[in-house]
Amino acid sequence: MLSAAETLVQLAAVDAELNQRRVARERLPERDRAAAASVAVADWENERARVAARIDELTAVIDRAEAQGAELTDTKTRLEAQMKTVIASREAEALMHEIATIDGQRDELDLAELGALEEQSDLDDRLAAHLGQQEAVRTASAQADDELASAVADIDAEVERLEPQRAELFATLDDRTGRRYGQLLESLGSAVGQLEGSRCSGCHLDLSAAEVDTARDESAASGFTECPQCGRLLVV
Ligand SMILES: [Zn+2]
Repeated sequence: MLSAAETLVQLAAVDAELNQRRVARERLPERDRAAAASVAVADWENERARVAARIDELTAVIDRAEAQGAELTDTKTRLEAQMKTVIASREAEALMHEIATIDGQRDELDLAELGALEEQSDLDDRLAAHLGQQEAVRTASAQADDELASAVADIDAEVERLEPQRAELFATLDDRTGRRYGQLLESLGSAVGQLEGSRCSGCHLDLSAAEVDTARDESAASGFTECPQCGRLLVV
């Protein structure tokens, strides 16, 4: 059977370990790696959507150019037919001018369509290469998630091992000490200090010679008192 002072020291050690585990759980390097891998998946998806959207845009540009080209061809055919029926040279000149204008428009349109076709062909290649990376990106993310889950499970197992120990130790404290312990743990992060020489190991402050004497007197029965500096339960 442990003394109350020994119980406090052990309980504080278990709580320090538990706290360490909880901090470690939040700061796992696996957590950063999983987050980075998930960002990589999102980036991959954004890029796929961006390239696919641009390919669709270019398809619309090409379709429009085809339709306008067909219209221009129709108009030109009609004008050429008209050409055969005119007699006045002025009228013929006007028609020739119109035909030349249509040829100019047609050249511009063809050039624009060619540009769109070239860009689309490049993007088709890029999309194919991008889709080729899909499995690697998704696998890396799934693997990073698994590694994180496994690291978290390891820590959780240690916490589950420590928690009953803690409960058992805590249950042996009297109500008043237990309450005080809980308050100190919450406000200071640790509830117990040990008198080492004239120093409290909780706050690392020195007690005066008179305070040390008082602490020794007060702890004579139970083995602990309160640190006059930080208020922690001071094991003497
Ligand atoms: Zn102290």
